[in-house]
Amino acid sequence: MLKQLIKKSRISSPWLVHFNSGACNACDIEVVDTLTPRFDLERFGVLLKATPRHADILVCSGPVTRQTRDRLIRIYQQMPEPRFVVAVGSCACTGGVFHGCYSVHGGVDAVIPVDAYIPGCPVRPDAIIDGVVKLLGKIRGDTEACPLQSNSKAI
Ligand code: SF4
Repeated sequence: MLKQLIKKSRISSPWLVHFNSGACNACDIEVVDTLTPRFDLERFGVLLKATPRHADILVCSGPVTRQTRDRLIRIYQQMPEPRFVVAVGSCACTGGVFHGCYSVHGGVDAVIPVDAYIPGCPVRPDAIIDGVVKLLGKIRGDTEACPLQSNSKAI
């Protein structure tokens, strides 16, 4: 009963934490854009939080660099279970233009499991909203409404 209540609360109002693991900042600006009144991600109950300890969804932009790898893992480990990860932008999905660079590990899924991939360079705010809403469908167990790719390591 309590688990069902928690699950319902998470779907009704999932909390996000945003982390730049090496992005050029264009994707980050688009993430911020989704939270402005123009695109208004909050209409789906989604709130941006400052700490991973309060977050259900990690929105990660950029490739994972050597400098940010350990920090990304630490942030992921600090999130309570069940936790979900969204890779925002082509760099976060695959490494993008930085793929193969000496200082880059690759996409986010090279380091932690990813539940949803939203490609684009930079990714558009409406694509971010679409991806997050589809992830909510996935959390709900609504597979038909969620044609997102999913990593086999996903939670
Ligand atoms: S996907 Fe494009 S805009 Fe986003 S971080 Fe990579 S290079 Fe920058």
